[in-house]
Amino acid sequence: MTDLHRLSIRELSEGLKQAQFSSRELTEHYLKRIAQIDPKVKSYVTVTAEQALAEANAADAALKAGNAHALAGIPLAHKDIFCTQGIKTTAGSKMLDNFISPYDATVVAKAKAAGLVTLGKVNMDEFAMGSTSENSYVGATSNPWALDHVPGGSSGGSAAAVAADLAPIATGTDTGGSIRQPASFCGLTGLKPTYGRVSRFGMIAYASSLDQGGPMARSAEDCAYLMNVIAGHDAKDSTSINKEVDDYVANLNGTAVKGLRIGIPKQYFNVAGLDADVKARVEESLKKLEEMGAILVEIDLNMTEAYVPTYYLIAPAEASSNLSRFDGVRYGYRCENPVDLMDLYKRSRSEGFGAEVQRRILIGTYALSAGYYDAYYVKAQKVRRLIQQDFLKAFGNVDVIAAPSAPTTAYKIGANLSPTEMYLGDIYTLAVNLAGLPAINAPVGFDKDSLPVGLQLIGNYWSESQLLSIVHQYQQNTDWHTKRAAIAEENA
Ligand code: GLN
Repeated sequence: MTDLHRLSIRELSEGLKQAQFSSRELTEHYLKRIAQIDPKVKSYVTVTAEQALAEANAADAALKAGNAHALAGIPLAHKDIFCTQGIKTTAGSKMLDNFISPYDATVVAKAKAAGLVTLGKVNMDEFAMGSTSENSYVGATSNPWALDHVPGGSSGGSAAAVAADLAPIATGTDTGGSIRQPASFCGLTGLKPTYGRVSRFGMIAYASSLDQGGPMARSAEDCAYLMNVIAGHDAKDSTSINKEVDDYVANLNGTAVKGLRIGIPKQYFNVAGLDADVKARVEESLKKLEEMGAILVEIDLNMTEAYVPTYYLIAPAEASSNLSRFDGVRYGYRCENPVDLMDLYKRSRSEGFGAEVQRRILIGTYALSAGYYDAYYVKAQKVRRLIQQDFLKAFGNVDVIAAPSAPTTAYKIGANLSPTEMYLGDIYTLAVNLAGLPAINAPVGFDKDSLPVGLQLIGNYWSESQLLSIVHQYQQNTDWHTKRAAIAEENA
């Protein structure tokens, strides 16, 4: 079969169960596409062909024996921030270029236990800091819709791999938008779950109070399948919540769109940098939801102006602390011929970390230092609480909140925005992480340059089923999620 890469997760699952094709064939099909097409996209940092074929054989045996999980034998790609035992995990950094993890992240272990086949590890901004994936030490990844554009970031490799049909699904992480924004730039569906829903164990930390893993796929239905595998309590992550996990697939039609109250924050649609095409596509998608029976309600989110400054204090502060472990001593990059211990620390860190990571370590260290801690860090934490309260108040009146995922479509590679311009592009995604809420991106059309536009829906805590269900029903009534980039149409 030449078109296995066009099948949805449900179709793959059924095809494997009915032995229309084997996991081995499916895996070989994807590996062939990666070998032929990925040199143009550069989404993979490491391809684990040998392991993938062994896992595919094991899945085929389980399928034959009739005791396989629903997703057994289906390939996926992991963001290179998830530790994978025996396989390089770089987090996009020279610092970890030689790092082979001795253990699997819980997300990786769960995917393995379900019989999913790991195709490899995909590119990302260094330590998940960025919005273009250009901050990776291995270099930029291309957006499958326009190869001279970025796929977004930091989970840009995950987005590009799925959008070019080089993996049917991928894992991503979202600290301030890194699942939703690349999903938006690449025309995908991506879910950032409630903080604590997916284990962070073995997921290399950027900003621990904000980091959350989640699925990136072509549709809400595909995301639901992967959520069923990765969600759940984990004793190894103290911030993971011990709360029953929904069956996200069974709930795909569980939320009534008729009568659903969708909040439209006034402040969000008056943001200076909001592109006219993005605004138009998002408004059209909301009109469609209205036709399907939803009620659009204008709401206020008065803290909007505080999102960027608050996040860009708290995230770097936590990063400066998390990244202090990379000192060249036990693992990771070590400078040549250190003269003494201080020289070892200094040079290993200045040679091992890229410019954006160093910028954030400096900002974060400053914000946490004696004399500035109260003025910056403590104040930012107080504002964070106000941002959360703003959302909770809004959820007293509406079921979900709608927004663009990003004010623009994908940037050109090398556009070289200043850090401030880059940070302002995160305006629509940051608050969700500051409040710990779940949110989803769904593709809703294209701009004048044929680049994808995304709609973001933000839900109350633990509303993952609701968000997936709304987007699923929207996708049953529209076909934006079925559009493929030209490169994805190429046969290997
Ligand atoms: N773009 C944001 C940043 O640079 C968010 C990144 C993320 O979610 N990991 O921090």
